[in-house]
Amino acid sequence: MRKNQQWDLIVIGGGHAGAEAALAAARSGADVLLLTQNIETIGQMSCNPAVGGLGKSQLVKELDALGGVMAWAADQAGIHFRVLNTSKGPAVRATRAQTDRQLYRQAVRRKVETQPGLWVLQQNVEDLILKNGRVCGVITQMQVSFEARAVVLTTGTFLGGKIFIGTCGRQGGRAGDPPANALAATLRDLPFETGRLKTGTPPRIDRRTVDFSMFKSQPGDEPRPVFSFLGHRSQHPRQMPCYVTRTNERTHEIVRSALHQSPIYSGDIDSTGPRYCPSIEDKVVRFADRSSHRIFVEPEGLESSELYPNGISTSLPFDVQERMVRSIPGFENAHITRPGYAIEYDYFDPRGLKYSLETKAVAGLFFAGQINGTTGYEEAAAQGIVAGVNAARFAQGAAPWLPNRESSYLGVLIDDLVTQGVMEPYRMFTSRVEYRLLLREDNADLRMTPTGRELNLVDDVRWKAFERKRTAIEKEQRRLRETRITLPQTEEVVGPASRQCTAEMLLRRPGMTYRKVAALAGWSDLPQDRQIVEQLEIQARYAGYTVRQQREIERLHKQRYRAIPQDFDYDKLSGLSHELREKLVKFRPGTVGQAERLQGMTPAAMAVLLVYLKHHEARKSA
Ligand code: FAD
Repeated sequence: MRKNQQWDLIVIGGGHAGAEAALAAARSGADVLLLTQNIETIGQMSCNPAVGGLGKSQLVKELDALGGVMAWAADQAGIHFRVLNTSKGPAVRATRAQTDRQLYRQAVRRKVETQPGLWVLQQNVEDLILKNGRVCGVITQMQVSFEARAVVLTTGTFLGGKIFIGTCGRQGGRAGDPPANALAATLRDLPFETGRLKTGTPPRIDRRTVDFSMFKSQPGDEPRPVFSFLGHRSQHPRQMPCYVTRTNERTHEIVRSALHQSPIYSGDIDSTGPRYCPSIEDKVVRFADRSSHRIFVEPEGLESSELYPNGISTSLPFDVQERMVRSIPGFENAHITRPGYAIEYDYFDPRGLKYSLETKAVAGLFFAGQINGTTGYEEAAAQGIVAGVNAARFAQGAAPWLPNRESSYLGVLIDDLVTQGVMEPYRMFTSRVEYRLLLREDNADLRMTPTGRELNLVDDVRWKAFERKRTAIEKEQRRLRETRITLPQTEEVVGPASRQCTAEMLLRRPGMTYRKVAALAGWSDLPQDRQIVEQLEIQARYAGYTVRQQREIERLHKQRYRAIPQDFDYDKLSGLSHELREKLVKFRPGTVGQAERLQGMTPAAMAVLLVYLKHHEARKSA
């Protein structure tokens, strides 16, 4: 441990947001102290040990492009890989890895413990040191203070955490971990808007008590996808299958008859949970007409005897959980190793944050992860990298890095949070992303790695690999544009296409692949890297759409980023509801785009705002 106790920044919490924040800040050159309750739980996955999935893999790949740890750890620990939505276009395709819980944690910890400039100390933080409206350090449970220019808070579900199983409620940050109550009390005294949210997890089941013959087996994809742009299949451990089973009327009846014992329905918990990841209680009530729900039975790890039944998250009493589980085909004799539970915790209204994730109320204090009202490892990690980089830049006196919605899922996530706030735990979806045709998982490196390099996040190894890939793509694209091909009579020509065209035009035709085009062109020196070939095909096939989206971005850019002065007088705006005017005064959007995305903003209200803004600008320039 270093004797010097003055740091550039301190990160509180070693979960998914904390690990990415601490690593990114240290990569960018800051001196970082990571204070976390328990070193053993760095990179711990509180719920299902799975990374990626719809709308989330784009975030993971963007993190990877910036040198983040999540995709790399998923490759080290992944025991089942799939690409979801393969029948749909590349804009909504998503990689998902079921990982070995232990291997994942070990991988993250290894990165944290070998990162130059990053130091770890196992300590519970109880208080913040504040002077003149800015944070100067923290105080831990042994009453030792650590000073820093910036602090990143990533405490997940631990602030005022309360765990529920049936009518039995007790304090806890997650199963097996204590809550962070002293810090929660400190924060409640500061001028932040706080609320309570909840989430839940299913019971885990001993695989020795399961009849696998009743399940449908779901092997991973072949060829097996790889998560990191620098990853390789040889890094993957042994692969395992997942399985699928279903609930039935009996399962639903057991749940229905015990609803009065569920803390969510008895009124013990009245906070909101993740709508898109509902408990089995919620499913039975909300989808009462459905007689069955799918359950993915997923391994927790190579050496683990536990299975994760994805889809039956519950906080019913233990005896009901047992009956409910045993009503499911294959689980008739199941032994539960850990009961399912719900957890309720404090979160902070993310509209109290700047785009850099620094709090508006306390200078130098950054929030990232579940405490901002999000759910999911990927969403947490994505905020972690933004907060970590910006806290480091704050400490160094540099301008913040503000990813925008036009360039990344990271930008969409941050923009949604800080302009709209959350009504329920926020999860990323492709449908939230206007420019998803441009912001795909496959091109995350082409979009983000140059920025990562500028921010000092990308090391020489990644940068050289990236430059090689980019150069090879550009060279091949030139060749495709410049080569004319005459199709042989044997080749079927679809639609109004002619027999003579450039190799690029040919590649755009349905059913064409780069390899086929290269064969027709007589090329023998082909790139071997599957990522390069994939880019050539996707970029050629979607060129028309992507050019159109790019034009739309350019058209909207000017309007969206038109500044609204901080002294703008919203009281003058007639025709706006009282509620909306109050909201504008409270959140003072910095740009037209931010005002547009405020909750409750209507096209009519936007028209009024734009007219007044024009008057305001004209008066100022006069
Ligand atoms: P965490 O991963 O929770 O990490 C917080 C870290 O902060 C921990 O290391 C903790 O020890 C440390 N810490 C806390 N307080 C202090 C302190 N005072 N001092 C020092 N260190 C501190 N996500 C989904 O996408 N789908 C789900 O179905 C789902 N279900 C969940 C079920 C449960 C029961 C839980 C607990 C979480 C679930 N999640 C789910 C959410 C997912 O686990 C989180 O979104 C993700 O882990 C958040 O990452 P984070 O870094 O913000 O916090």
